[in-house]
Amino acid sequence: MSTTIQRQASLSKDVQRFLDAPLHRAYVGGRWVEAADGATFEVRDPGSSDKIATVTSLKEADVNKAVDVAVEAFHRSGWSKMPVNERAAVLHRIADTVEAKLSQFAQIESLDCGKIYAQAVADVQNVIDTFRYFADLAQTVNYRSVIAVKHHEAWVARHPWGACGFIIPWNFPFLLAGWGLAPALAAGNTCVLKPAEDTPLSALYLCHVIHEQGLLPAGVLNVVTGLGETAGAAVSRNPKFKRMSFTGSPEIGRLVAEACGRNLIPVKCELGGKGAAVVFNDVDIAEASKKLVQAITFHAGQVCCDATRWLIQKDIYGEFVDACVSQMSAVQVGYPMDEETQMGPLVSEKQRSRVLSYLKKGVAGGADLVLEGGVAEVPGRNGYYVKPALMAGSLDNVAAREEIFGPVAYLAPFTNEDEGIRLANDTDYGLGNSVWSSDLARCSRVAEAFESGNGWINAHNVVVHGVPYGGIGKSGMGGGVVSPETLNDYLRPISVVRPL
Ligand code: ADP
Repeated sequence: MSTTIQRQASLSKDVQRFLDAPLHRAYVGGRWVEAADGATFEVRDPGSSDKIATVTSLKEADVNKAVDVAVEAFHRSGWSKMPVNERAAVLHRIADTVEAKLSQFAQIESLDCGKIYAQAVADVQNVIDTFRYFADLAQTVNYRSVIAVKHHEAWVARHPWGACGFIIPWNFPFLLAGWGLAPALAAGNTCVLKPAEDTPLSALYLCHVIHEQGLLPAGVLNVVTGLGETAGAAVSRNPKFKRMSFTGSPEIGRLVAEACGRNLIPVKCELGGKGAAVVFNDVDIAEASKKLVQAITFHAGQVCCDATRWLIQKDIYGEFVDACVSQMSAVQVGYPMDEETQMGPLVSEKQRSRVLSYLKKGVAGGADLVLEGGVAEVPGRNGYYVKPALMAGSLDNVAAREEIFGPVAYLAPFTNEDEGIRLANDTDYGLGNSVWSSDLARCSRVAEAFESGNGWINAHNVVVHGVPYGGIGKSGMGGGVVSPETLNDYLRPISVVRPL
C-alpha cells in the first residue's frame, strides 16, 4: 500500500487515470475489446512487485478477429490508398501527440518494465524520431521505377502488402513498438501488434492517445494483449498476415518462424545476442571500462545487442579488470523512478532467477566470480533487483556462451588482433560487437571482420536511424530495422511489363 501512495505522488494525473482503469482492454478496429472468455492477466511494477494493471487475455479466436479487422481496414479504410504525403502527415501528427505526452509515456514505461526514468524518456524520444524518420523517408521512395528494356515498356511499382503482424518483447516495449509500426504504417500497411504480457501498457496508452485524437482510421492499428503461448502463437499462426516481425528469444523466434514458414509468410526475426567487446592495449582504460560498465548496466543488461563478453588484450588485462570492478561496484541500484538510481530491477522474478542461475552454473563450470553480483536489497522496495556481476575464465563456460540477459559480463584475455577477432566470432550469435582502440585503422579492420550484423568502434549499443540494424545466425534473419531497407520490407514490388 505504501508503494502505491509513493507512486501516486510522482505520477501525472493522466497516467494515474490510465492505470486506475479496472481492466485494460485490447484495441481492435478502433474499439476496446475483451477476451470472449473474460480471461485476464496481471501486470506488475518490477521495482516493487506491486500489481499495476489487469489486462484482457485474448485467445486464438479473439486474435483472429483482430486480424480480420486489419485485413478489412487495409482494403476499405482508405489508409493503403492515401497519398503518401498525407500518410506521412498522419505519422508526424502521431509523433507530435507522443511528444506532447512524453513524460506520461515515460512514466508508464518506467513503471511497466522497470527502466530508469531517464532511459524511458530516451526510448519515448526514439519512438518520436522513428515516426518522423519513416514519415519523411516514405516521401522519398520511388513508387514507380521505370526500367529501360529493349522492345518492352516495363516498370516496378511498390505497394503496401496488407495486414502485418508484430510480436514484441518486454525489454524495450515502446521503442520496439515504434520500430515495428512506423515503417509498416508509413508504407500503408495495417498492423496487429502483440506486446509482451509483462509490459503491454505503453502500446495500449499509444492506442488511447491515437484514439482520442482520431489520428488513424479504425482497424489500421490493433493491439492484441495476451499470453505468448496463446495470443502470440495465434498471431504467428494466422495465415492472413502478409508479413510478420518477431523480436524476442531465439527459442520463440524459431516457433514463430516455423509457423510463418508453414504459411509461407515472410518473417523478420530480431533475436538474442552474446556480443563481444574487443579491447586493445592502447585504450584509455578509465574511459573504455566506464563505457562498458555503463553498457552492461544499461537497463540492467536486458539488451540483446549488449557486450557480454569483454575480451581484453593480455598486457592490460589486470588493470582493466580492476577498473571495471571499481566502477561496477559503485553502480547505484534502486527504484527506477528515483533520481539517483543508475540501474533498476530486472523485469520479473522469472528473469531474476534466470540471471542468478547463470552465476551458479558459471561458477560450477569453473568460472571465477570477479565481482559477486547476486540479489540486491533496495530498502522499502520488494522488486526484482540484482547487483551487477563480473565473471572470468574459459570462454567455453556456459556463462560465456549462452545469453544471460542481465548485468553480467564475462572477461577473458587475448594476445593479438587475430585472436581477438577469432574469439569474438566464436559464438552462434551475431548481433553487435565492438572494438576499442586508439588506432582507427585497426578499429575499421576489426569491425569489418566481425561476423555480426553490427560492428561498433569505441562504443557499444549504437543504433541510429538510417543505419541498418539486424542480426545474423542465432541473432536473427529476414532484415533489420530503422533504415531505408526496413521501409522497403513493407513495400510489395510488382513488375509490370508490356511488349512493344
Ligand atoms: P523474452 O525472452 O524476451 O521473454 P520471448 O521470446 O519469451 O522473449 O517473448 C517475446 C514475445 O514473444 C512476447 O510478446 C511473448 O508473449 C511472445 N511469445 C512467447 N511465446 C510465444 C509463442 N509460443 N508464440 C508466439 N509468441 C510467443
